Amino acid sequence: MNVNNHKFGLISKRVVTTNGVEPACVLIKNGSILDVLVSYTQTQLDNLQKDGYQLEDLGDLVIMPGLIDSHVHVNEPGRTEWEGFETATKAAAVGGITTIADMPLNSNPVTTSVVAFNEKRKAAKDKLWVDCRFYGGVVPGNSAELNPLLDHDVAGFKCFLIHSGIDDFPNVSEIDLRQAMPILAKRNAPLLIHAELDTNDTSCTDDAVNHTWNNSQSYQEFLKSRPKHWENKAIELMIKLCQEFNCPIHIVHLSSAEALPIIEKAKKAKLPITVETCPHYLSLFAEDIPDGDTRYKCAPPIREKSNSDALWQALISGTIDFVVSDHSPCTPDLKFLQEGNLQLAWGGISSLQFGLPVIWTEAKKRGLTLLDVSKWMSQNTARFLKLDKTKGKLSPGYDADIIVFDPDKRFRIEPSLIMHKHKVTPYDGKIVFGKVERTYLRGHKIFDTDNGLNTSPKGRMYCKQVEV
Ligand SMILES: [Zn+2]
Repeated sequence: MNVNNHKFGLISKRVVTTNGVEPACVLIKNGSILDVLVSYTQTQLDNLQKDGYQLEDLGDLVIMPGLIDSHVHVNEPGRTEWEGFETATKAAAVGGITTIADMPLNSNPVTTSVVAFNEKRKAAKDKLWVDCRFYGGVVPGNSAELNPLLDHDVAGFKCFLIHSGIDDFPNVSEIDLRQAMPILAKRNAPLLIHAELDTNDTSCTDDAVNHTWNNSQSYQEFLKSRPKHWENKAIELMIKLCQEFNCPIHIVHLSSAEALPIIEKAKKAKLPITVETCPHYLSLFAEDIPDGDTRYKCAPPIREKSNSDALWQALISGTIDFVVSDHSPCTPDLKFLQEGNLQLAWGGISSLQFGLPVIWTEAKKRGLTLLDVSKWMSQNTARFLKLDKTKGKLSPGYDADIIVFDPDKRFRIEPSLIMHKHKVTPYDGKIVFGKVERTYLRGHKIFDTDNGLNTSPKGRMYCKQVEV
């Protein structure tokens, strides 16, 4: 069916509108949302059908905006054996995510120059099941590349204050930041920061991780090796520089709840600062993590339950803006699963497909609603990626990026369900609430539980189409 002439309507008792969760009919025409009718009569529906609209009543299945995950490591080109555009975006579609933003590492080359960006764009071509934006990276010595990368429409720039895990994406020092931040400030482009600063090493050099291990399987030792004060110090530094340069800063994957008061203060002072956290910091707790289970290793680490509770409070109050996966897989051998070696294992959680049920399961326990979840995982991430004029809400004129979700269905996360390239995830075996039944991307049904994924990719890249 030609989507351009395709008009249809989805009716449900539970539609996540901008006001709440309410009965409505969502009308879709030419890939966009034509209208969201919150009160309608049977005559109106009859007339729509006469006018050629195919109407479908989904009962009490939830209709909500597709998720926008602004923190995904696709790793292609160069480390496609870790993940890739095809597998990552298929997993996204099945998980109800209709747009991802790809991090500038751990691909090879890393996206720190226009040449590398064009490699990235070529690698993604014809492999996108969902829409995709890209980030550039700030590394020592690449400040001349930042404006050209912005001309290609990157969504922002990622940097590390500590070793990134791969040597070809070195961390920055304050000197490098002082070069980059005025450039980004002029273009109102956000600087995304991996905020851990080894306080024993104020020059932020590569040998920052200086913890001496006694037992490389001990989760408590791992936790001690990346303490909260590393995050707190890094965020303090970034707030100082944000104030000095008025450059938008974004703290990625906040784990330390101790940093919340300084973030809150900076926000109250109207500094341009945004913050994200991830499903693993909100649903997994250090107390429950068995020693030697490297699937749980990520940086900064998953901390204790009381820390997680404080992150939830900050999410509710708005100190934390949104929730993203930080999907960061690798090949299973790099996780040292057999050895259970937390010292050597790659730090990264593989989770892209399961963010919605994981967060919904926790949110539901805490008496929160799907409107809250939708704000944290669609609306606010759309705004961050500057896609909020077309994505993140069910509103007239917006892209028909829609999911049909059964929030009451319980299921066990199992390897057979996983669409990521590798099936290694700490969520394996966990029982969660909420199953994505269907995903629409600009009006195309790209996934449904009966027929699986669409056979051809319909995703778009958000970047300036510069010929290479
Ligand atoms: Zn990341």
